[in-house]
Amino acid sequence: MFGLASRQLSTPTLTHIPADGRPTVSPSTTDPAPLLIDGELRPATGGGTFEVLNPATEEVVGHSADATAADMDAAIAAARRAFDTTDWSTDHAFRARCLRQLRDALQSHTEELRALTIAEVGAPHMFTTGPQLEGPVADLGWLADLVEAYRWTEDLGESEIMGVRSFRSTRREAIGVVGAITPWNFPNQINLAKIGPALAAGCTVVLKPAPDTPLIAAAVARIAAEETDLPAGVLNVVNSADHAVGAQLSTDPRVDLVSFTGSTTTGKKVMAAAAETLKKVFLELGGKSASVVLDDADLGSACFMTALNACTHAGQGCALTTRLVVPRAQLAEAIEHAKGAMAAFAPGDPTDPGTLCGPLVSAAQRERVESYIRLAVEEGGTIECGGGRPAAHEKGFFVEPTLISGLDNSARVAQEEIFGPVLVVIPHDGDDDAIRIANDSPYGLSGAVWGTDPERVEHVVSSIRTGTLGVNGGQWYGADVPFGGYKQSGIGREMGREGFEEYLEIKAVATPA
Ligand code: NAD
Repeated sequence: MFGLASRQLSTPTLTHIPADGRPTVSPSTTDPAPLLIDGELRPATGGGTFEVLNPATEEVVGHSADATAADMDAAIAAARRAFDTTDWSTDHAFRARCLRQLRDALQSHTEELRALTIAEVGAPHMFTTGPQLEGPVADLGWLADLVEAYRWTEDLGESEIMGVRSFRSTRREAIGVVGAITPWNFPNQINLAKIGPALAAGCTVVLKPAPDTPLIAAAVARIAAEETDLPAGVLNVVNSADHAVGAQLSTDPRVDLVSFTGSTTTGKKVMAAAAETLKKVFLELGGKSASVVLDDADLGSACFMTALNACTHAGQGCALTTRLVVPRAQLAEAIEHAKGAMAAFAPGDPTDPGTLCGPLVSAAQRERVESYIRLAVEEGGTIECGGGRPAAHEKGFFVEPTLISGLDNSARVAQEEIFGPVLVVIPHDGDDDAIRIANDSPYGLSGAVWGTDPERVEHVVSSIRTGTLGVNGGQWYGADVPFGGYKQSGIGREMGREGFEEYLEIKAVATPA
C-alpha cells in the first residue's frame, strides 16, 4: 500500500443517494484532486489547479491539480525506474493479484465513482452500469485471468542453419513504459482499457487524462494508491489543463509506447512527434460510421436503433452510427421512423436512470455541434427534427437530437465527425451503392448492417472496411472483443487478447541443440 500523502487532498465525494436513486456529488472547491506520481498522491509543482464543470448544471464539480512539465518528467522517471529496477514485468502472479485487487477496490467504490462519472462527464446513469463504469472495472478480472492463462513462451522446435543446430523459442515481454493519453467521452472505459492491459502485460504506465475529465481518473488513482499493492511508479496519473504536458509522452525517449485515444487530428500529431524516438504508437481515433439498411430489412427497427445509437451519450461516442444509409424508395418512411425515435430520446438529466441522451461535455463541444448543424443548412440540408437547444434545460450544454436530410455523402456533415446527437440520412440505390457510401469516408471504426437475406448481408459485412460491425442489432462490445479502426480511425486494437498483445514485445531465442 502507498499514497498516505493524500490525506489533505481529495476528489469530490458522494454525498448521498436520495430516495429517487439519483446520485449527487458535493463539490470539493478547496481540495484539488491530486496527481499520482511515484506512489505519492500530491499537488502539482507550484500548486496550480483547474476547475471542472458539471455539463448538466454548469456548476463547479471540483478542481484538479494542474501538472507542469516537471511533474510529467517526474512521472516518466518513476515509471522508467519501476520498470527497469523491479520485477513487476516478470512476476505474472503478482500482477494478476494486483489487477483483481484494483477491480475489487474500485467495485467497493462503485456508487462514489458512478456519481462522479455522471457529474463530471454528464454520462447518463444507465451507461454507468455498462461501458461508462461497471463494465471496464469488471474487465480487470478478465485481464487477470488472461495473465495467468497466457502462453508467455512458445517452443518453435529445432532447426539447422549454416551447420548450426538450435533449439528456438519465443518469449513475450512487456514493452516497457507506456504513455496513455485519453479523451473525455468514456473516461473510465478508455482509461481502464489502457491501464488494465498495460499493467497485465507488465508495463508501467503514465496516464494523461483529458482536461475535461480529470476527477474520475484522479479517483481511480487514489483508490489504486490507497487500496492496492501496486508498487510505487507502476501507475502514475498526471492531470493537466495543458495539452503540451501530455505531448511530452510522445517525445520523451524513456517512453516505449504511446497508447492514444482521441481525435484523428491529434493522433496524427502524436504519431509525428513519436517518430523522432521511433516509439511504438497505438491509436484509437475518430469515426463516422454508417448504418446500412438493405431493402429487405425491418426498416422501423433499423431506423429506431440507429437513431438510438446516434443519441447515446448525446452522440459523444467514436463508434456510434451517425450516417443512416437507406433505400431511396424508402427514404421518406425512414425519415419518419428516425424522427419518431429522436423525439423519444429528448435530452434529459443524466442522473435520471431513464435518460439516454445527456448533455455535451462542454460549452466548446456544444458550439462545435451547433456549428455543424448550421453548416448542414448552409450546404442545402434539411433539419428534419431538433437543431436547437432544448427549452426544458436552461442550464447545461444540451443540444436536441437532430436529423439531417437532403444531402449526399460528400457533404461535410456526412464526412466529418460531429460528436453530438446528429444523424445524417443518406439514400442509396442498391446494395453495392450502399457499400460504396459506407466506405466513402476517411474513417473505418464501426458500423451496422440491417437485412434479412443472409447472402446479401454477408456481402455487405465483408465489403465494408471497418473495425467493428453489428448485424441486425448485434452488440460487439466486450472485454474479449478487439476494438479499433481501419483507415484514419486508428492503428492497432484495444481490448481482447489483441489489445493486451499491443503492450508486448517478442523476443526470439536460440540455443545450441
Ligand atoms: P482530442 O484529440 O482533442 O484529445 C485527446 C487527448 O489528447 C486529451 O487528453 C488531450 O489533452 C490530448 N492532447 C491534445 N493535444 C495533444 C498533443 N499534441 N499531444 C498529445 N496529447 C494531446 O480528443 P477529445 O476531444 O478529448 O476526444 C474526442 C475524440 O476522441 C473524438 O475524435 C473521438 O472519435 C475520439 N475517440 C476515439 C475512440 C476510439 O477508441 N477510437 C474512443 C473515444 C473517443
